[in-house]
Amino acid sequence: MSDATDCLFCRIATGELPADKVYEDQHVTAFRDINPVAPVHILVIPNRHIVSLAHTEPDDREILGHIMSVLVKIAASEGLAERGYRTVVNCGDEGGQTVSHLHFHLLGRRQLNWPPG
Ligand code: 5GP
Ligand code: ZN
Repeated sequence: MSDATDCLFCRIATGELPADKVYEDQHVTAFRDINPVAPVHILVIPNRHIVSLAHTEPDDREILGHIMSVLVKIAASEGLAERGYRTVVNCGDEGGQTVSHLHFHLLGRRQLNWPPG
């Protein structure tokens, strides 16, 4: 697992690496996924380096709640509130996590299937 110094998403959060950002504030950044799997595919991350959901502590509930509330607002601004959408957090190897900085996927504007692969 990478640390903050060489972390791709930390570098996107600081602006060191470019991304198509749709929202940012002091605590979180949201940007379009470089390899979208749905017409809307946005990632919401804490600006602070947290490796995965499994690395969160009870004290992180405020940032976790904030990320969810930002997701809801972005979903509405992307026109997804009525039609529906999905949010996904892949955690660890078997969860399919490929970038070791906590991120919430927001997927929408197509019919999504269940269960995921
Ligand atoms: P994971 O598989 O870890 O849940 O999701 C990582 C996501 O990050 C993937 O959907 C992948 O396409 C996306 N991603 C990886 N590198 C970059 C990048 O440099 N820029 C952006 N915008 N997305 C990236
Ligand atoms: Zn990071």
